Amino acid sequence: MSAPRPEQLSLNTATVRQQWKLDAIIDGCARHGIRGISPWRDQVAELGLAEAARRIRANDLTVTGYCRGGMFPAADAAGRQAALDDNRRAVDEALALGAKCLVLVVGGLPAGSRDIAGARAQVRDGIGTLLQYSREVGMPLAIEPLHPMYAADRACVNTMAHANDLCDELGDDGLGIALDVYHVWWDPQLPAQIERAGRRRLLAFHICDWLAPTTDLLLDRGMMGDGVIDIRALRHAVEAQGYDGFHEVEIFSANNWWKRPGDEVLATCQERHLAHC
Ligand code: ZN
Repeated sequence: MSAPRPEQLSLNTATVRQQWKLDAIIDGCARHGIRGISPWRDQVAELGLAEAARRIRANDLTVTGYCRGGMFPAADAAGRQAALDDNRRAVDEALALGAKCLVLVVGGLPAGSRDIAGARAQVRDGIGTLLQYSREVGMPLAIEPLHPMYAADRACVNTMAHANDLCDELGDDGLGIALDVYHVWWDPQLPAQIERAGRRRLLAFHICDWLAPTTDLLLDRGMMGDGVIDIRALRHAVEAQGYDGFHEVEIFSANNWWKRPGDEVLATCQERHLAHC
């Protein structure tokens, strides 16, 4: 199996968020020759949307995704409307940044709820409503299925099959999937569901590794090569469908990578991308 091209690496800015603010992350990408970036809303807000867009363009970086929209379910109608309003703003910001897609972490159970089917219905309805706007302005939405351990509090869409079902139901014009190997590597249906998604729905490919054991549900993601995911096989599976986009490294690592110098993290991402993706 062949190695990836170095220029296919993209940096999700969460990977060095403890070391650097967004302007320093953009400078770091330029310094290391990293060609893609996927920034988070709070970092963009801190730098200022126009300034973030200006710096990204000045360095000719491709915005492989904007993190993130979603969090649709709420306990009442006012909460659901507030979420929709915020998602429309996220679409506008993604447009201003020239992002390839707005990544959706769809949300879990409203506070106090035990109704996961209801939460999933709210997610479907929320995406359906947001699509009326995002299609009009031309910003693709990428549903990111999250590992089932996040079903309660982050995302009640937990498999590629569920994401594909939503694309079937809502129509895949302007709607697709962000495949993050960390969330879906364990799924016996994954190869079939990648094939089902096809080139049209595969909007983003996120990489890191699953550490065994994992010591924190959120903040113990591994660097590529340090865990148990056959990342290269998954890259080949998406490429077999025609995916030729970026490989976005996204690592939340409170006790390891967030404690190392940013330049060391970026150099390691580049080296491990070539060796393991
Ligand atoms: Zn991801």
